[in-house]
Amino acid sequence: MFDSSVLIVAHPDDEILWLSSVIDKMDSIIFCFNDSPYNTEVGDARKKAIAQYPLLNVSTLDIVEPDAWDKADWSQPVTTDYGIKLEKCQEAALRYQDTYEKLISILRSIVANRKNVFTHNPWGEYGHEEHVLVYRVLKALQTEFHYDLWFSNYCSNRSVNLMDHYISGFVTDYECLSVNLALAEEIVEVYKKNGCWTWYADYQWFERECLMRAKPSWEQAELLLYGHNFPVNYIKIHVETHEQRPHRIVRVAEKITRCLERFFPGRK
Ligand SMILES: [Zn+2]
Repeated sequence: MFDSSVLIVAHPDDEILWLSSVIDKMDSIIFCFNDSPYNTEVGDARKKAIAQYPLLNVSTLDIVEPDAWDKADWSQPVTTDYGIKLEKCQEAALRYQDTYEKLISILRSIVANRKNVFTHNPWGEYGHEEHVLVYRVLKALQTEFHYDLWFSNYCSNRSVNLMDHYISGFVTDYECLSVNLALAEEIVEVYKKNGCWTWYADYQWFERECLMRAKPSWEQAELLLYGHNFPVNYIKIHVETHEQRPHRIVRVAEKITRCLERFFPGRK
């Protein structure tokens, strides 16, 4: 399972959130994205964090994020050749496709002689479009290089409809492992110190996570058409989407109302 292994994830911090049980067993750990077009400070912060990282086998491809976050319709997700359809922004959809091609060409030499590749799951854990993209790149390269492809069992209320696409016609082996909390907490501090921890500050870690091996198409397996038994680490998240966020004028009106209520209590 860990022989000739590489862990490849979209962003620095994904490795401990979704794969902490295996990070100290990898030959190398690679982050795809560094700079972000909507957060000009995070790129430098991530590079500093990587330089201070407690493990030495960590590096970044230093690709700019395609800014795909929250551009898909997760209530009715549609898969494409590149990942998930980005319904909300045509420009982001083009960047997503370009990034797919770029990752295919850069990662080809990195995975060429590997026996085991660890990455995101097909539904992007809690539902991140860029996680789905990286999974799809490594799934495509698997047909060329025949490595074992592993991912973990995290899912959320946001990504469950995409996970549903994989419940049948999909067979996995799985191993349940203990989360490496001590190492995860040490690495979280490095990210927090450098200002690039992107997950909940008070996140409560699961005790165990399951690593699933996606059976490749060339292996014979009996497909279960009506169901599939595998464990899930289910996270309940709240994402304020652009549609749900109140219009700015409504927010300003609410703020004025709250101020008036403070100065004129009892008036409505
Ligand atoms: Zn991520």
